Amino acid sequence: MRLLDGRAMAAEIGRGVVDEVERLAETDVTPTLAVVVPSADPAALSYVQVIERTAGKVGVAVQVHHPAGGPDELAAVLDKLAVDRAVHGVLVQTPLPAGRTAGEVGVRIPPVKDVDGMNPLSLGRLALGLPAFPSATAEAVVEILRRAEVPLAGARACVIGRGPVVGKPAALLLLAEDATVTVCHSRTKDLATVAHEADIVVAAVGQPKLVGAGFVRPGATVVDVGTNVTDAGLVGDVDVDAIAPVAGALTPVPGGVGPVTTMLLLRNTVLAARHSR
Ligand code: NAP
Repeated sequence: MRLLDGRAMAAEIGRGVVDEVERLAETDVTPTLAVVVPSADPAALSYVQVIERTAGKVGVAVQVHHPAGGPDELAAVLDKLAVDRAVHGVLVQTPLPAGRTAGEVGVRIPPVKDVDGMNPLSLGRLALGLPAFPSATAEAVVEILRRAEVPLAGARACVIGRGPVVGKPAALLLLAEDATVTVCHSRTKDLATVAHEADIVVAAVGQPKLVGAGFVRPGATVVDVGTNVTDAGLVGDVDVDAIAPVAGALTPVPGGVGPVTTMLLLRNTVLAARHSR
C-alpha cells in the first residue's frame, strides 16, 4: 500500500505559493489572512499556531483576532474585516459562540475573502460549478488525489460523511472532476458494501477504525480526513492495519490531509490577494 505523503505535497504547493507571494510583493501587496478565534479551545488555538508557522514559511501575513464578548463582538470583528482592504482572506475557527451556526457566521465573510468556504454562498456556487473557494479540507482531498495521479474522471468515489465542511463539498468537487460519487452517512445501510464498490473512499466522519478491510476493494485509494484524539494519539477514521493488505494507497493521519489543508488555505489567501488587485 502506497502512503500518500501530505507533508511532501504541502511543501510542493508551498513552493508555488512563495513564487506568487514574490510576484505580489512587486506590487506592494502582502497576502494577509485574518484568523478569528471566538473561543479559548486548546485545539483551535494550537491550529492557529500551525497556520502562523506555515504562513511564516511562505510569506503570508497572519492576523489573529480574539473577539471576547460573544456573538455580537464576533459579528463586529467580521464586519470590519469584510471591508478592510489590507485583509484578503478570513477564517473563523470553531467552536463558535453558543447559539451561532456556521452559516450565520459565514454570511459575514464576503465570498472573495472566504478562503475556507464558510459562507453558504460559496457552497452554493460550488454546487452550481461557479468560481468559489471550497473548504480547504475538501479541496485538499481532491488536490491529493490529483497529485497522486489517481484517475478521477469516471472513477467511482464513495464519500463517507455529509458534513458541510468536508463530506458535502468534497463530494461536489469530486463530481466536478467527473467521478461517480456516492455520499454515505450515519443512516446508510450496508455501508461497507457501498464503500467496497468504490475506486476511491473518502472517510470524513470522526470515528476511529470505522473503515475496515471490508470497506476497501483491492487497489482502492483511501483518503482519511478524520482527526480523532485518542489515548494512542491522533488517529483517523481508517483501521490502517486492517486495510493495508488490500488498499492501493492511503493518506496517513497525521501527515496526510492536514498539512495540505493548511497550505491550501494559504494558497487561497494568495489567490484572493491577486484577485483583489
Ligand atoms: P460532521 O459535520 O460532524 O460530519 C460527520 C459525518 O459523519 C456526518 O455526515 C455523519 O452522518 C457521518 N457519520 C457519523 N457516524 C457515522 C457512521 N457510523 N457511519 C457513517 N457515517 C457516519 O464532521 P466534519 O466536520 O465533516 O468532520 C469529519 C472528520 O473530519 C472529523 O474527524 C474532523 O475532525 C475531521 N476534519 C479534519 C480536517 C483536516 O484538516 N484534516 C478538517 C476538518 C475536519 P449524519 O449526517 O447522518 O449525522
